[in-house]
Amino acid sequence: MGGRVLSVASECVPLVKTGGLADVVGALPGALAGKGWEMRVLLPAYRSLRAQAAGWPVVFEEPDLWGGTGRVLAGKVAGLSVLLLDAPHLYDREGGPYSSPVGEHPDNAIRFAALSWVAARIAREGLADWKPDVLHAHDWQAGLAPAYLAYHGAGGVKSVLTIHNIAFQGWAPAHMLGILRLPAHAFHSEALEYYGGISSLKAGLVTADWITTVSPSYAAEILRPEFGMGLEGVLAARGPVVSGILNGVDTALWSPEAADPPFSAKSLTGKAKARENLCAEFGLDVPGPLAIVVSRLTDQKGIDLLPKVIPDFVLGGGGLIVLGSGDPAMEGAMRGLAARFPGRVAVRIGYDEALSHRLFAGADAVLVPSRFEPCGLTQMYGLRFGTLPVVSLVGGLADTVIGASPATLAAGTATGVTFHPVDALAFRQAMAKLLELSRQPKLWAKLRQNAMAHPVGWEVSAADYAGLYERLTA
Ligand code: ADP
Repeated sequence: MGGRVLSVASECVPLVKTGGLADVVGALPGALAGKGWEMRVLLPAYRSLRAQAAGWPVVFEEPDLWGGTGRVLAGKVAGLSVLLLDAPHLYDREGGPYSSPVGEHPDNAIRFAALSWVAARIAREGLADWKPDVLHAHDWQAGLAPAYLAYHGAGGVKSVLTIHNIAFQGWAPAHMLGILRLPAHAFHSEALEYYGGISSLKAGLVTADWITTVSPSYAAEILRPEFGMGLEGVLAARGPVVSGILNGVDTALWSPEAADPPFSAKSLTGKAKARENLCAEFGLDVPGPLAIVVSRLTDQKGIDLLPKVIPDFVLGGGGLIVLGSGDPAMEGAMRGLAARFPGRVAVRIGYDEALSHRLFAGADAVLVPSRFEPCGLTQMYGLRFGTLPVVSLVGGLADTVIGASPATLAAGTATGVTFHPVDALAFRQAMAKLLELSRQPKLWAKLRQNAMAHPVGWEVSAADYAGLYERLTA
């Protein structure tokens, strides 16, 4: 069968990225093309994207987009079919997708309502030569798109909402209900009302035909209050239409064969060279395993645990490079670690895609001590590059890494080190285990082989999404 899908999101690789959402939105169209589903991605035309779309044709217009007009421009970027919603009064601003240099945009509720509104209109009415069968909305920024289909007419289109992170819920005060073009009759706890206000994520959750999240474990976790963050009841009520589909990674983009120098599971000389280069670049001399962290520096990611864990690891011979930005206190703590252990710990505060590739290629281990992790991508990049993941057993981390234990080592299946609960003690023990494994070259080589052989591509998950679209549109 197959058909057409309009994917709606606030980020998409290679156009705009702040986190894993962008990787997934950018990889899905290619993965689904092989399954007979043609996907186009609708994004806001942020300032950084407008020049790129200069010559693109206008394929849709919305005259009344909260204080200005919106024009949808169609083009191709790196093989992706992209639709950019050009509405300068909303998106042509300094800064990232959500904030200016001085903080979050105060009108984010409207900025992303506008994206969702146009998405719903395109889904319902179609473009001149293209009518989707499914609208696939991602996270709170697109959460109102299924709601607009539900309350303003769906035109036969089915909707899917994917939760990439339930911690971000898109809250707006109750008085904005009408402004957001949502019906007053739906302002009750079973529909749009959320703790006295409106949440665009909840609006999507109560109106979408299907809900997915990005790993089976997270799909189960968010039914519980510790992980559901206030939405567990909403999800429980919709239980029959909720499923977990694990993210994949773009294996062409994240490939040891494409690293500099290239390497493979059979020949790791290139990896050793990449490690040397990294140590030279960062002025490190590390006798034991070289670990990395590539992450937002936030409480979710368990970054605050590092100062309690890394000193022992360094004393045991290990080293660490941190690439990330976020919470100023955590940035300071990371700088503190580097100052305390010169030659063994280095920190780069900022966002650097090219450096992240070099880190995954050259390091021995990647640390992901998250308190919750819907899927997580960096542990999968680690597997792909033979950079052993050390992860907490939550969400997608639990679904992608097989922790070294007497049983898994005997069976020859381990791909990394896992720990639980998410605290400094368990994390410290995991790092001690990593050191111990690194001193056993045969075992270490086997772990690395297993990791590199573990499938992290989109094949299985793309088939799952295609199967879901098929069932919805049958
Ligand atoms: P999240 O989306 O919660 O931040 P994920 O693990 O799903 O976490 O995705 C994070 C993505 O962002 C990965 O592709 C990771 O490599 C990338 N990333 C995070 N921080 C940085 C950084 N400072 N520089 C480069 N890439 C980064």
